[in-house]
Amino acid sequence: AIDFGMDKALQRLGLKEINEGTSTGSIHFGSGEIISSYSPVDGSLIGKVKTTSPEDYEKVMDAATSAFKEWRLLPAPQRGEIVRQFGQKLRELKEPLGKLVSYEMGKSYQEGLGEVQEMIDICDFAVGLSRQLHGLTMHSERPGHRMYEQYHPLGVVGIISAFNFPVAVWAWNTALAWVCGDACVWKPSEKTPLCGVACQNIIAQVLKENNLPEGISCLINGDYRVGELMTQDKRVPLVSATGSIRMGKIVAQAVAGRLGKSLLELGGNNAIIVTPDADIKMTVIGAVFGAVGTAGQRCTSTRRLIIHESVYDKVKNAITDAYQQLRIGNPLDENNHVGPLIDTDAVKMYLNALQEAEKEGGTILVEGGVLQGDHYDSGCYVKPAIVEAENSFQIVQEETFAPILYLLKYSGDVENAIAQQNGVVQGLSSAIMTNSLRDAERFLSASGSDCGIANVNIGTSGAEIGGAFGGEKETGGGRESGSDAWKVYMRRQTNTINYTTKLPLAQGIKFDL
Ligand code: NAD
Repeated sequence: AIDFGMDKALQRLGLKEINEGTSTGSIHFGSGEIISSYSPVDGSLIGKVKTTSPEDYEKVMDAATSAFKEWRLLPAPQRGEIVRQFGQKLRELKEPLGKLVSYEMGKSYQEGLGEVQEMIDICDFAVGLSRQLHGLTMHSERPGHRMYEQYHPLGVVGIISAFNFPVAVWAWNTALAWVCGDACVWKPSEKTPLCGVACQNIIAQVLKENNLPEGISCLINGDYRVGELMTQDKRVPLVSATGSIRMGKIVAQAVAGRLGKSLLELGGNNAIIVTPDADIKMTVIGAVFGAVGTAGQRCTSTRRLIIHESVYDKVKNAITDAYQQLRIGNPLDENNHVGPLIDTDAVKMYLNALQEAEKEGGTILVEGGVLQGDHYDSGCYVKPAIVEAENSFQIVQEETFAPILYLLKYSGDVENAIAQQNGVVQGLSSAIMTNSLRDAERFLSASGSDCGIANVNIGTSGAEIGGAFGGEKETGGGRESGSDAWKVYMRRQTNTINYTTKLPLAQGIKFDL
């Protein structure tokens, strides 16, 4: 076997002690049951993490609430300086952290590095933002009055994240929340707990070096039961949750039940529309990377291709040809395109979806299946599949978190393609491949794509941190990362100041005493 330097990577991330079970007593080590993290790459045990018991959770919340009281008083640009230092540490540890992401989650090493780069980018963004948390000033209708709005830190922000972006999603939330003056409590996916501990180790060191309380960033480990402690906790004014629609519906109700705020980033069912004059070469690259990158386990993965009938066969042939070139195997080996699924449950769901698609009348164009043999010991490696299907199939309506691409056909106008693209419950990412200005503009118009992300001549997969990220409908409506997404992590206050000796009322109301 090739040594990909995992041992050294774990050591640099401070994870060796965890393997040996010697907890440092730091607040992120719990006393609950133990989660064993197995790599989907080769099935071996990477490490064990103790989960957070309800008693531990109380200690974490005490630490977070008292840290918040201190942190919120630090001027925002000074908070930005801490985030800058955190970004610097991430630059130094990009390689080992990228490797851990790849090994624990199963995405390619390149994508693991890309994920850490995304963390670095959002830190840079947050540093700049720390001098721009501005509100507006308005003209008061009353003489001698001034009116303005300001944004204050919100409190302790809860972050619940999914397995597929085990570090970046946390950073998108936490880097912004930190400059906004919030303390954060993070529950990473129980499928990638070591990524969580590695990140916590990095920020804990930065906080220590600056004599700041570690409670500014807290980690709680475990499954949905640990997440529920936070969704039901009145001390957490905002819960940012990334994951399945099923999870989002439960979290949204729990948080709304106590009139808290939730920021939801849920599943997608993303499509690329291919018009008659599309550049076929670009379409193939965009669609194949979108469908098989991260083994189809991105919320923005391309799941449906909606192709005009006039170019249908051409696109179909080009894509099926491209699938023959795909190399499946160890994601740490840069020669491979496709790594494993997260676990064998995900493999079952993938196989089940292929079966359902056939049962509903789909035609398998590129055969799926589970790979067996020496290099596929974990049982998590599957072949990317292509199925000719109809948008109305129940299975096409669902997000299967695996590399299955459905080919759909449209005829006539681009409106017919847009109707299919919008004809699902999810609304995350969408794209059109076209050289027609009219079709592109229709796709982007008010009657066009109903998704939070709509691209022209690039695929559905991935996004830059500068834009607000998120989707509509059952994707949950939340927005994270760039643009003005920071506002959700703060509370807005409107202030009116009277600098006269009279007390006029608004709307000219008279009240003389
Ligand atoms: P999941 O819903 O199984 O779990 C996500 C997280 O929610 C985990 O940390 C889990 O422990 C927690 N959780 C589950 N039930 C909970 C409950 N009742 N209360 C509190 N916490 C609970 O999702 P997953 O399998 O880890 O991730 C895949 C899903 O995430 C896909 O649907 C994907 O599209 C979605 N996703 C969306 C985005 C986005 O930005 N829109 C990004 C990444 C992933």
